[in-house]
Amino acid sequence: MPLLAAVPASGSAAAAGCEVDYTVNAWTGGYTAEVSVTNNGPALSDWRLTWTYEGDQRVTSGWNATVTQSGHAVTAVNTAWNGTVASGGTLSFGVQGTAGSGGPAPTDFALNGVSCGGDGTQPPTTPPPTTPPPTTPPSAECGDAVVCDDFENQTGSTPAGNWRFTAPDCQGTGAAAVDTAVAHSGARSLRLDGKAGYCNHAFVASTADLSSVGPVMYVRMWVRHTTALPAAHVTFVSMPDSSQGGKALRIGGQNGALQWNREIDDATLPAQSPTGVGMSEPLPTGSWQCLRFAVDTTATGLDTWLNDEQVPGLHADGVPTRDVDDQWLSRTTAPRPTALRLGWESYGNGDDTLWFDDVAVGSTPIGC
Ligand code: CA
Repeated sequence: MPLLAAVPASGSAAAAGCEVDYTVNAWTGGYTAEVSVTNNGPALSDWRLTWTYEGDQRVTSGWNATVTQSGHAVTAVNTAWNGTVASGGTLSFGVQGTAGSGGPAPTDFALNGVSCGGDGTQPPTTPPPTTPPPTTPPSAECGDAVVCDDFENQTGSTPAGNWRFTAPDCQGTGAAAVDTAVAHSGARSLRLDGKAGYCNHAFVASTADLSSVGPVMYVRMWVRHTTALPAAHVTFVSMPDSSQGGKALRIGGQNGALQWNREIDDATLPAQSPTGVGMSEPLPTGSWQCLRFAVDTTATGLDTWLNDEQVPGLHADGVPTRDVDDQWLSRTTAPRPTALRLGWESYGNGDDTLWFDDVAVGSTPIGC
C-alpha cells in the first residue's frame, strides 16, 4: 500500500538530483497539473515519480504517464515510449484529478526513489493550487472544441447542419425543433418535446465524431426544462459508448434527481437508495441550468457539475463509495463515448419539454 516507502535508491536508475515544476490549473472541484522534471542525475531508461498530497486531491487520470494513487501517495510511471531521459534532460507528463476540499501543491517529489530535495530545489508552484479553493471555473469559451454550438447558425425550424433529428428504434410523438422564442444565448436553441413511453423518444444528435476526444471528454451544455424529473427513469443526454458495444452512456433522472445510467446493464450512478438519491440534485425547472460533465476514457472516472457545483452522487473514481457507485463499479471498462444526443427518452411515465443551448464537447475543461 504505501507506495512511497518501499522504493530504495539503488543502481544506475537512481537519480542524484531532480527539479520538479508542478503547475496547477485548478477550478472548483477539479484540477489538472503539468509536471516537468529535470533529471540532474545519470541517464534513465525508465522513471517513476512519487509524491504525497497533503489534502484530499485525488488523481483520476494522467497523460504521458501511468498515474496511480493509494491513500495520499501518488506514483507516476513512464509509458512505453517516454522512459528514456538523458542526464540533464527533462521528462514531462500531466495528471487530472478531483480537488475535494483542496490542499497545497505537493513538495516531496522523488525520482526513482531519490528525493528531489523538497522546497530547496523545487520552484514555487504557480498558481497556488487549491488553497484557497479557486473561485474561477474554466473559461466558457469553446472556440476550438470539437462541438461548440450556440445554434445561431440554424436557419430553419428543423435541426440541420451539424445536428440531425433521430429517434432510434421507433418513433412516436416526440419532436425536435429549432426554437426562436427561447434561448440562452442569441435568439435560438434546440427544443425537444418529449413524451412518455419509449417510442415517443426524440433526440437531436450532433454529427461530430467524438471518438478521439480525450483522454478526458468534457461536455458543457445549458439546459432548461419544464416538468420536474419524475420518479420513473428518463434520459435527456445519450452518448453511444463504443466500449459497451455502442450501448449508450446516459444522463437523466430517476426518483426526482439527476442520474447517470449505463444502457448495457442499467447500472445507475448514484445508487437509487434514498441516501444515494440524496447525494444527487434535482434539475430545476423553468430556468437555464449549466450542466457540465467529464468522462475519463482511460479509467472509471466521471464528474458532474450543476451550475459549477460538483454533484457528489454523480461522481465515480474507481474507489467504492456506498450508495453512489455500488452498481457502477460492476463494470471496469473505461467508457468511450463516440457521439452526443440531446433529447428525451422515457421508459414509463414522464413528459417534458426541454431546450438546449451553448453546447460544447472538447478535450479540455469548458466552463459555464
Ligand atoms: Ca443560442
